[in-house]
Amino acid sequence: MFKHYYINNNPTLNPGFNHEVHTMEHATQLGICNKHYIGYFANEIEAVAQAKKIYSDADGCATCCPNAHRG
Ligand SMILES: [Zn+2]
Repeated sequence: MFKHYYINNNPTLNPGFNHEVHTMEHATQLGICNKHYIGYFANEIEAVAQAKKIYSDADGCATCCPNAHRG
């Protein structure tokens, strides 16, 4: 299922201090305003791969991108 993905520009709000990738729904739910649009992807693995071109430490959110979450 295709979804819109965003990356958080603020790396200090998660335990790993990395730039986290979220779905549009989850970014809105969390109230993340300082975010960068990555694109429309079939899954979080493709979204994080694209996000790594922006932030090399990009990681999937454990909640909305579990298949791309490293920890
Ligand atoms: Zn999320």
